[in-house]
Amino acid sequence: MGIIVQKFGGTSVADADKIQSAARRAIRAQQDGNQVVMVVSAMGRQTDYLVDLAKQICDAPPAREMDMLLSTGEQVSVALMAMAIHALGREAVSLTGAQIGIHTDSSHTKARIQSISTDRMKKLLDEGKIVIAAGFQGIDEDFNITTLGRGGSDTTAVALAAVLNADACEIYTDVDGVYTTDPRLLADARKMARVSHDEILELASLGAGVMHSRSIEFGKKFSVPIHVRNSGSFSDEPGTIIGTSSESADRAVSGAALTKNEAQITIAGVPDKPGSSLTIFSKLAAINLAVDMIVQNMGAEGRADVSFTVLEDDLPKALSAVEKAAKEIEAEGVSHNANLAKVSIVGLGMKTQTGVADRMFRVLADEGINIEVITTSDIKVSALVARDRALDALRAVHAEFELDKPPGDRVAFGEEPHDQQSASPVDVVARLRRMEDLTIDSISLDDSQAQLTLFDVPDRPGIAATIFEAIARENVLVDMIVQSMGRDGLADVSCTVPRKELDHSLSVMNKLAEELGGEVTHEPAVAILAVTGIGIRSHTGVSFRMFKALTEAKINVEMVSTSEVRVSMVVAADKGKAGLSALKYAFADVLA
Ligand code: ADP
Ligand code: ASP
Ligand code: MG
Repeated sequence: MGIIVQKFGGTSVADADKIQSAARRAIRAQQDGNQVVMVVSAMGRQTDYLVDLAKQICDAPPAREMDMLLSTGEQVSVALMAMAIHALGREAVSLTGAQIGIHTDSSHTKARIQSISTDRMKKLLDEGKIVIAAGFQGIDEDFNITTLGRGGSDTTAVALAAVLNADACEIYTDVDGVYTTDPRLLADARKMARVSHDEILELASLGAGVMHSRSIEFGKKFSVPIHVRNSGSFSDEPGTIIGTSSESADRAVSGAALTKNEAQITIAGVPDKPGSSLTIFSKLAAINLAVDMIVQNMGAEGRADVSFTVLEDDLPKALSAVEKAAKEIEAEGVSHNANLAKVSIVGLGMKTQTGVADRMFRVLADEGINIEVITTSDIKVSALVARDRALDALRAVHAEFELDKPPGDRVAFGEEPHDQQSASPVDVVARLRRMEDLTIDSISLDDSQAQLTLFDVPDRPGIAATIFEAIARENVLVDMIVQSMGRDGLADVSCTVPRKELDHSLSVMNKLAEELGGEVTHEPAVAILAVTGIGIRSHTGVSFRMFKALTEAKINVEMVSTSEVRVSMVVAADKGKAGLSALKYAFADVLA
């Protein structure tokens, strides 16, 4: 008999009727011959309500007590769900995280799962009962209740499916599946038939709140088939399958996302030598702050500007950490900028298709939207724009890549399938141990690249579009693109290109400099060092560990790009091999 895990989010259990209809759905799955585990969230907006209540009592509630409080929301809904199933004449048992044995570390309000006991659940299932598990919660070594972070019930569901070797993990929510962008923001958004782990990981971390990103990391690591569907639909309308393949091979872009609450911090005049970035990012890692859009552009006289974005809520914390670092490294000053938003496009097809980024830049320019900062990874392009233009920007890119239209061919376009976990007893024990640890799949070196920078180009809409259109016309596959926030109305734009394309890319750039203003410099031989794996961004220390390893090897980092699944750093080509061994050594404990 197969096991099915069904997860119901807050809106899907918001009142008695909805609880009863979820209960009927579980019973149907059982009648179809499955053993059923339900994972249930707190009812409606109960978690928000509890957070608000705590804030009324004190500004900074102790994290342990916050977890004690928040976990009650799920305890209410599992009990009611069990009652609903009993009322329908079936047997069910509700269990808290602690009763199941979901063991986590002790980082309250953002705990990570370390192991899950399956004995009690299996026994109940074998007795014919429906198991109802409280989402989002666990217990630490000292029996303190912990929670997994907002939205964490998704992670509970996929983790349970992984340890139980379930046939499917169904995520019931208030939309029909995963859309090309948040359907609440854009009426044109289209439901995707399927989406790959890497794409949804990027989308989730770039603002698509439909799934907790750590649940996708689990899905990928343990090959759990995930099906996102609408709890409100009576028919068995298919939702979206999250797996190893993307929706279509002929599309470079699969989805778009928006985060509205971005702020940017710039440290000007950072001495450009090994160790400067390390000091900055170690201070941020120490307070567990996730940063994005790290841009480091070479400046004049051996000094660089380093900037990055944080969520606006984290700005005060981040600024105080950064100001300390700036003093230590004798930087010239720290400035910040709020009222920004990040618009991103994501797609596996970007790895191989040229002329994707420039189309995004052009359509934003046509809308008169200035791009403050650009960063890219192999499967995404992000642009930082003024917050009051954010929705226009999202609408424009969504239309440009025709995301509202179904893809022409339905050929699934795959990522490398992750190692299937076999069910031998040894593997099962291994998979239970430290489930959420960082896993690094590969550390790679590409020392065939060159770097081009256009300095001091006028910062106005259309600059990036003009530059990358010109390069795309030459059919050059640009890898990393970085544009930093303009100082005095000027911006710097850098990219890497294959070294054999350097000469004609350089002549394109020189011509652009004549037309637009600015000055071109280039590094004929650079190397890209990339660390790829699972949990890269949620383990905030990855960039920091890389900076540390490279600094200790006395290697200077020229450019950085981060994504959910990879961090890449550009260094001088002759430092590539040394950098590779330094990184292999630094990540030896987590290298798969
Ligand atoms: P639940 O309570 O079921 O966990 P959430 O509110 O966490 O539900 O997630 C569902 C919501 O995610 C949707 O109502 C939708 O507005 C939002 N969302 C954001 N981006 C996307 C997307 N790309 N596809 C679908 N939904 C999205
Ligand atoms: N109830 C928790 C929250 O709202 C967990 C969840 O619903 O996933 O964040
Ligand atoms: Mg959710």
